[in-house]
Amino acid sequence: MKMELPILSVRPNADARSARSPHAHTHPHAEPPLRRAPSHIRHLIDSFSRPIRDLRISITDRCNFRCVYCMEPDARFLPHAELLSPAHFARLAKICTSLGIRKIRLTGGEPTLRPDLPEIIRLIRDLAKPDEIALTTNGSLCTDQSLLTWKAAGLSRLTFSLDAVDQSLFTSTTRSNSSAAEVIAAIRRAQSAGFSTIKLNAVIVRGLNDSQILPLAQLALDLNIAVRYIEYMPLDEAHAWNRDKLVPAHEILSTIQSRHPLTPIPSPDPSSTSENFLFSNPSTHAPSASVGVIAPVTRSFCNRCSRLRITAEGKVRPCLFSINEWSLRDLLLNHAESPDSDALIAQRLIDICWSKQAGHTINADSFQQPARPMSAIGG
Ligand code: SAM
Ligand code: SF4
Repeated sequence: MKMELPILSVRPNADARSARSPHAHTHPHAEPPLRRAPSHIRHLIDSFSRPIRDLRISITDRCNFRCVYCMEPDARFLPHAELLSPAHFARLAKICTSLGIRKIRLTGGEPTLRPDLPEIIRLIRDLAKPDEIALTTNGSLCTDQSLLTWKAAGLSRLTFSLDAVDQSLFTSTTRSNSSAAEVIAAIRRAQSAGFSTIKLNAVIVRGLNDSQILPLAQLALDLNIAVRYIEYMPLDEAHAWNRDKLVPAHEILSTIQSRHPLTPIPSPDPSSTSENFLFSNPSTHAPSASVGVIAPVTRSFCNRCSRLRITAEGKVRPCLFSINEWSLRDLLLNHAESPDSDALIAQRLIDICWSKQAGHTINADSFQQPARPMSAIGG
């Protein structure tokens, strides 16, 4: 794939200059009616008996990268004034944990662009008290100081994204002026800051970065971390996804196994999205290195989905591929925190989960890509 697009700055304020529309990615449809959950349901569960335990909150739709499989160079963003505040996120998180959410992941866009990220983490920890607060980041803005601040605020786990070790492929994939070396240095800093279970995500796109499967496996060994390869999904802003660009999980695994024999790791978590493997012959300094595949397209895990997503402006999406979404903005902004208004939000969340679809339909002829790209949903 030939890339001749401008390289964007990774400075935190640079993305703001490209904000053009006050209503980027606004959902085009009116909200459909919600299915009412039976009155005895007082926690988050869907009508297919899947308990909803994992909440992903996108805290911004902005990003300082323009990954080819995610965001376009001229992406438009919500105005800052439309983003929810730390207090809004914490209030929602608290209601969600009272309804059964155990883990919360902060994502985006690039969540580290928000200067109030420490406050978001701290308020969620103190008010919602989830078992775990995780963050997904492109790693470009992770200084020693910021890592320590997030950890002190209550961040439990970090996932980095890195799709190429080779610098020219890193540049053509991310269309940023950051570097693979910077992201790798950020991972090492996170290890020094005491983050123990660091994961690294890599989206593999045929003809773009599929040559990086083995170098990324080597990186797992070098850094003693888990690398997870993600199948490219039709959630790119360009709507350029097609099956020819998909590198299926079986091909990723056989490429790794051509160099490194692998041993499957049984998953203790029934809702896990990844199939994970230890290196059968790891070097002694890399006992925790592993690889995994997340294969939503060729090995769908919808039947064990436990996730719910809230966007940066307060829309709730029961599925990554939801065509429908429902807003909590009015209840959040126009009804001050009180037992009554929290009960209204809780009931709406229960009904939204009850309305969750069975799964994605990527492999059906009738598949319709959602209007929102991954960057505005929160991966
Ligand atoms: N900016 C942060 C980052 O890149 O880690 C967090 C947000 S990003 C949307 C979250 C994850 O979604 C990243 O691991 C990214 O690689 C993944 N992602 C984005 N677009 C995707 C696509 N079309 N298919 C599969 N994964 C995608
Ligand atoms: Fe930004 Fe993450 Fe999307 Fe890349 S994948 S453009 S880093 S939000």
